[in-house]
Amino acid sequence: MAQKKILVTRPSMPDMDEYTAEIKSLWDSHWITNMGAKHRTFQAQLEEYLGVGSAELVVNGHMALEMTLQAMGLEGEVITTPFTFASTTHAIVRSGLTPVFCDINRKNYTIDTSQIESLITENTCAIVPVHVYGCICDIEEIDRIAKKHGLKVIYDAAHAFGETRKGIGVGNFGDASCFSFHATKVFNTIEGGAICYKDRELGERLYDLKNFGIHGSECVSGIGANAKMNEFCAAMGICNLRHIDEEIGRRKKVHLRYRKNLNGIKGLSPRAVDHDVDFNYAYFPLLVDSEKFGADRDSIIEKLAENNIFARKYFYPITSSFECYRGMFDPEATPVAMEISRNILTLPIYAGLSMKNVDRICECIMECRPPAVT
Ligand SMILES: *Cc1c(COP(=O)(O)O)cnc(C)c1O
Repeated sequence: MAQKKILVTRPSMPDMDEYTAEIKSLWDSHWITNMGAKHRTFQAQLEEYLGVGSAELVVNGHMALEMTLQAMGLEGEVITTPFTFASTTHAIVRSGLTPVFCDINRKNYTIDTSQIESLITENTCAIVPVHVYGCICDIEEIDRIAKKHGLKVIYDAAHAFGETRKGIGVGNFGDASCFSFHATKVFNTIEGGAICYKDRELGERLYDLKNFGIHGSECVSGIGANAKMNEFCAAMGICNLRHIDEEIGRRKKVHLRYRKNLNGIKGLSPRAVDHDVDFNYAYFPLLVDSEKFGADRDSIIEKLAENNIFARKYFYPITSSFECYRGMFDPEATPVAMEISRNILTLPIYAGLSMKNVDRICECIMECRPPAVT
């Protein structure tokens, strides 16, 4: 019999009974969006869980990024990395800003802080680093550079839900941090996102952007859009937040099993885990050195697919080489990002993935190697 498909991730869902109990009151109130009771409850619980002063709930992670860039009134150039999901770069461009691509470091694939200053010009207004795969950026160095040059820092924290570094919640770093609660992320509200921020005025502008700039029934003081999180999504958030620590614990088991199986295999490097980070195990990236391993990234992906296992080429291609940006950026300007993106894959990881399946995935990978010539 054919094996069941294993996808790279599987959304976490509460028991159906738990969710229906949570949304029952919506049929009493008929208040299903526009910052109702679920929205208020979830917002407070989220701020507490993330250990942040303020979090604005929004419709998705992409709008969190766009709205933050717009609420800050930024103009000019933004330093960022091309080794990320399309959203990061699109949000910058769609906000009328020019991305300037900085390379990534080989240690954890986040922005190479030693190169940031050489990219700063009189037009630079902000840095948008990405905590890619949940690896937290070199926040101290980014902070130092930003202060010295008067730049805003907006973290794309879509991969870093619930993480802490030296005990501090990841949402506290920089001027703002944008989270995604998309179905495929560690924590989901079906679709959703949040912006963590410190500055009260920024919060007010974010709220304007989220709700048409409406303040009271007769006062519209801001030119806003609509990016509200509805009550059904907030209810999903309330339910999923109850189980998030357990979910992360189960992901950790999968992560450790992969590491045990793949440890010491020549040519395969699981990403390093920082010891001062309380990790969320969102992804399991594996870097392939095809010469040392004897097979390349693409042939591993193919072999897995033949066995109904679907790993992903995250992140390939790099955003600066997207078709829509052809001729605008030079992808060769970030050679490390280019090289990593050609040789990395992310393996399936989610709370319900069995150890048996993890072992099977690792066996498939091993079978890609040519027979030993002894
Ligand atoms: C998922 C993701 C986003 C966008 O979030 P959505 O909620 O899907 O809009 C932005 N940046 C990164 C790095 C992501 O992985």
